[in-house]
Amino acid sequence: MTVQATVTDDSRETFDKFSPVDGRKLGTYEISTASDVEAAVARAREAAPRWRDLSLDQRFSYFDRIREIIRREGERYAQQISEDTGKPLVDSLMTELMSIPLFIDYYEKEAPKALKRRRLMPQLLFPGKTSYIEYFPKGVVGIISPWNFPFQLAVIPMISALIGGNTVVLKPSEVTPITGELIRELFEEASFPKGVVEVLQGDGSTGAALTGSDVDMIFFTGSVATGRKVMAAAAEKPIPVELELGGKDAMIVCEDAHLERAARAAVWGGFLNCGQMCVSVERLFVVESIYDEFVELVREEVARLRVGAPDEGSDMGPLTFSGQLGVVARHVEDAREKGATIAAGGKSKEGPGQFFEPTLVLDVTTDMEIYREETFGPVLPVIKVADDEEAIRMANDHKYGLTGSVWTGDKKRGIELASRMESGQTSVNDLVTSVGNPALPFGGVKQSGFGRYHGHEGLYSFMHQKAIMVSGDFMSVEPFWFPYAAKYPTVFRTFKGLLGGNMVTALKGFWDMIQMTRNRAGTGE
Ligand code: NAD
Repeated sequence: MTVQATVTDDSRETFDKFSPVDGRKLGTYEISTASDVEAAVARAREAAPRWRDLSLDQRFSYFDRIREIIRREGERYAQQISEDTGKPLVDSLMTELMSIPLFIDYYEKEAPKALKRRRLMPQLLFPGKTSYIEYFPKGVVGIISPWNFPFQLAVIPMISALIGGNTVVLKPSEVTPITGELIRELFEEASFPKGVVEVLQGDGSTGAALTGSDVDMIFFTGSVATGRKVMAAAAEKPIPVELELGGKDAMIVCEDAHLERAARAAVWGGFLNCGQMCVSVERLFVVESIYDEFVELVREEVARLRVGAPDEGSDMGPLTFSGQLGVVARHVEDAREKGATIAAGGKSKEGPGQFFEPTLVLDVTTDMEIYREETFGPVLPVIKVADDEEAIRMANDHKYGLTGSVWTGDKKRGIELASRMESGQTSVNDLVTSVGNPALPFGGVKQSGFGRYHGHEGLYSFMHQKAIMVSGDFMSVEPFWFPYAAKYPTVFRTFKGLLGGNMVTALKGFWDMIQMTRNRAGTGE
C-alpha cells in the first residue's frame, strides 16, 4: 500500500512517519503552524451558523454518508490504520471502525430526544410560570487526539460535537498521521460543507496553537502531562475543556469467579492493542485462595499469544509509538530489580520493528513503577490479595480511576464492588467492551480526567444548556418586586411558613405580598 505524503514546501517544518512493524519510512507530513490553525479556526467559525441552523435530520444526512463510506471502505480503512499503528486487522475493524456506524445509529435514535427543548414540572412556588431547558452548541470545538486508537478516539468526539451543531477542528496525533489523513478523506468524501470539519496535521506545537486559538472548547484525549498544559492554556481564556487521560485499571478476581473466563479476559484486556489502552488491565488483583490456579491459566493464555505484523494473523502487534518501548522496558526492569517475577516475556523482540514480548509480572508490589505509573504496553502485573476487600481498597488507593472490572459468580456482590470502585466505568465479569457501548457515558475520575462522552452525556459535553422561564402576564406585579416599604413582616411570615412546611401560611403570605406590591403599600401613594 502506498502512503500519500503531504507535498511539502521547503520553508515548512515536516515530520516523518515510520512503520512500527519494520521501520520503513511511510511518509512525510507538514506541521501545521499557528497561522494555519488560526485560518482553520476562522473557517470553522464562519461555517458554524449555517451548520448550527440545519435541522438534526439534515445533519444526519451527512452522518449517513459517513456510515456508508465506512461500510463500503472498511477493509481499506482497516489496512491503513493497521499500517499506521501496527495493530492486528481484527482490532482495526473491531475497535476502530465498527464503533462509528454503531454510534451514529445510536445517536440517530437518541439525539432528537436528548437535544429537544424539555418542559419541566411546574414548581409550586412559581405558579403561572413554565420552565424549559434547551441546548445550543458551544461553537467551534478543538479536538486533540492520541495515537493508540487514532481513528475512533478522534471520530467519535467529532461526530458527537457535530451532531449538536458545533463545527470541529481536529489535531490528530503526529505518531499516526496516516490515520489523520484517512479522517480528512472520510469527511471530505462525505461532502461536509466547507469549514465544518478541519483537520490539521502536526505535533505538540500545533496542539498548543489550537488550544490557544479562538476555539470555544477543547476536547483532549492523551496523557496527564499534556492534559495539564491544555487545561492551563484553556484557563487563560477561559474556555471549557474535557480531559480524557490515562489509566491504571484494576481487574479484581474473586474466589468464586469463572476462572477460565476471567483468565482469558485478563489476557485480552492486558494485551489487546499491545496494551496501549487507557482501559488496559494494568493491575490484576487475584484472591489468594485461587491465585496459583488462576495464574497458571493466565500463563498458558499468554503463551498462546501470536505476536507479529498485522497481516500475519497476529493477536498482538508492535508498539505504535517508538518512545513507548523505553517506558515499557524501564517499568519491567524496575519491577525485576524490586523483586518481581517475570513469568513470561520481559524484553523487546530481536529484529526490526517496535515489538515487545507479552509480559506477565508476578509478585508486584506498590512501590514498583509498574504499579504506580501507566505502562501503556504489553505487560500484565499481578498482585496477590487476601480477599476482595483488600483488592478494592488497593484498587482505589491510586491516582488514576478510568475503568475497571470485578469477576465473581455472585452478581450482587459484583455490582456492590463495582459501585465502590473509584472509576468512571466498571464492568462485572467483562472488561473493555463497555467502552464500545454507545449508551454508556465514558470518562474518568481523579487523574484519569473529567467530563463524559458517549451516551446522552456525550452530546451534552459539547452543548451549552439554556434555561428559559416563561411567566403569564395576567398580573401587573410579582410578589417580590418593589416597593419594599412595610413588606418585611409579611416576607418574614412567608419565609417561616415556607421553611416550616406550612404552605397555607406561605401562600397567604405570597398573596399579601402581591397586594402590597400592587397597592404600593407603605409608600403613601
Ligand atoms: P500525548 O499527551 O502525548 O498526546 C496527545 C495529543 O496531544 C497528541 O495529538 C499531541 O500532538 C498533542 N499535544 C502534545 N503536546 C501538546 C500541547 N502542549 N498542547 C496541546 N496538544 C498537545 O498522549 P499520547 O501519547 O498520544 O496518548 C497516550 C495517552 O493517552 C495515555 O496516557 C493514554 O492513557 C491516554 N488515553 C486516554 C484515553 C481516554 O479516553 N481516557 C484514551 C486513549 C488514550
